[in-house]
Amino acid sequence: MNIFVINSGSSSIKYQLFRWPAEQPVCSGLVERIGSDEATIRHTVFEQESATAEQRLVLPLSDHEAGLREVVRLLTAQPGGVIRDPAEIAAVGHRVVHGGEAFAATTLITAEVKAEIRRLFALAPLHNPANYLGIEVAEQLFAQARQVAVFDTAFHQTMPEYAFRYALPTALYEKQRIRKYGFHGTSHQYVAAQAAAYLQNPDARLITIHLGNGCSMAAVRGGQSLDTSMGFGPLSGLVMGTRSGDLDPSVLLHLLGPLGYSAEQVSALLNKESGMLGLAGSNDMRDIGQALAAGDARAALAYDLYAYRIRHYIGAYTATLNGLDAIVFTAGVGENDALVRAKACARMEFFGLQLDEEKNQQRSPGLRDLSGPASRARILVIPTNEELEIARQSAELLTAHA
Ligand code: AMP
Repeated sequence: MNIFVINSGSSSIKYQLFRWPAEQPVCSGLVERIGSDEATIRHTVFEQESATAEQRLVLPLSDHEAGLREVVRLLTAQPGGVIRDPAEIAAVGHRVVHGGEAFAATTLITAEVKAEIRRLFALAPLHNPANYLGIEVAEQLFAQARQVAVFDTAFHQTMPEYAFRYALPTALYEKQRIRKYGFHGTSHQYVAAQAAAYLQNPDARLITIHLGNGCSMAAVRGGQSLDTSMGFGPLSGLVMGTRSGDLDPSVLLHLLGPLGYSAEQVSALLNKESGMLGLAGSNDMRDIGQALAAGDARAALAYDLYAYRIRHYIGAYTATLNGLDAIVFTAGVGENDALVRAKACARMEFFGLQLDEEKNQQRSPGLRDLSGPASRARILVIPTNEELEIARQSAELLTAHA
């Protein structure tokens, strides 16, 4: 059977098609600049693992429906298509950012589920409306398929209350649902499962470190999230590409009061102008790495601050887990940036971490174990694959409801 995965953003749609049960990726693509006369589609068809054919289109796309219709045309084109008819797709797995407290697991999409995703617009105004739009369009274009929602927050619903509550008046939790939710759950869950399998220990105490454009860490034991560094929204915790990470709320009060910022300005500042961009002038670690090599002092400070925050959470989560079996680096920066890994693992012998510098510099696909001989805990790099995890969870749900 075929499983189609959709990650619908405000002006983009990322998609991937898998053949099941082989878990074989068939094609993937990205529609961007939806709503413009010069929208783009990059569509790649795979032969086994290697990319064989890539098409790039520039065309007007008025909305998400027009975008997805064009994708269906590419999927079913003769010759060159990968299916003959949209009805050949058994399930569409949708990434949905916020599932609130209602969804602790992947779920079949029903009218009630859609109503709940709509209610959660207030908690994820930048993401849930776009995810919802993707669902509505897919329901039309893949009418025969089961629609499945995979929530970024669901994996973290196992956090104990003392970890997810803020020390604010209780009514703000009970009436307004202000608490820690956490994000990147699909990625943390995927790499944690891979790490536990590698360690042959289903009860492994793991710290998963997702370093992409957005960054978060999670403490995972027995496949359950016990804590995570993002919170009510995606701003807390680690330093990110353009987001600040942890900050004393007094700074916000100072910006909003004496400095005269509006709420919108503060939001733009924290979400789009801070993090590595604010510290060093770029949100791409490759640029900052080059600046560092050229002796740029701001880049050096940004790297140290970024790594120091990771070390801080490794310490915190080793306490949460009462020990440590492995840390796992993943996502764009975690998988590629040897210097970040080296700085994050330096002088961490107390926590049982000793990095093998040579292995850290080598590049190879798949899981890598970078632990040195004196390391009591493993240091792993595991490429994340959120699309595959969404497809897996969709397939599992389909089998359960067959
Ligand atoms: P992601 O959100 O997982 O796609 O990660 C995107 C980020 O990964 C980019 O903004 C870069 O900062 C970072 N990245 C990608 N490739 C590399 C690389 N070769 N070295 C360092 N950072 C990288």
